[in-house]
Amino acid sequence: MGLESKMGGIITTQLDKVVNWARKNSLWPMPFGVACCAIEMMATLCSRYDMSRFGAEVIRFSPRQSDLLLVSGRISIKMMPVLTRIYEQMPEPKWVISMGACCSSGGVFDTYTLIQGIDQFLPVDVYIPGCPPRPEALLDALMFIQKKISTERIQDRIHGN
Ligand code: SF4
Repeated sequence: MGLESKMGGIITTQLDKVVNWARKNSLWPMPFGVACCAIEMMATLCSRYDMSRFGAEVIRFSPRQSDLLLVSGRISIKMMPVLTRIYEQMPEPKWVISMGACCSSGGVFDTYTLIQGIDQFLPVDVYIPGCPPRPEALLDALMFIQKKISTERIQDRIHGN
């Protein structure tokens, strides 16, 4: 434990702050919106709710340019491999929001055709309850992701913790 390692610690901490600040204020969402919840997701992007205030207005339809997967609506068993492939194509670090009762738990649709919660296949960071959730709830989830990013450490990402 010399001055050198202490300085290294200080530098790493400051680097974490700068990187996290940049990441949390420039999220690029990849929307996967199906069914009614997607309408609320679209409303969140429009001028009344204005998601760009949070630095997350650059919606990408290419997973390779995205770091936030926004899943909303009913996800069928046939759709799930596509959704999983999209998630796998997104570069690290990445986060997932599950919007609405249907994609979080199947909602009222307890049928053999629908996934009863996308977290059976994807690591969900935030669940938004509701049928459908209001745009304010999606903005709240976005702020939760931003807080989560603020506490992350680059070292943990490198070592896969
Ligand atoms: S949670 Fe409600 S609003 Fe959302 S997709 Fe399901 S039925 Fe539609």
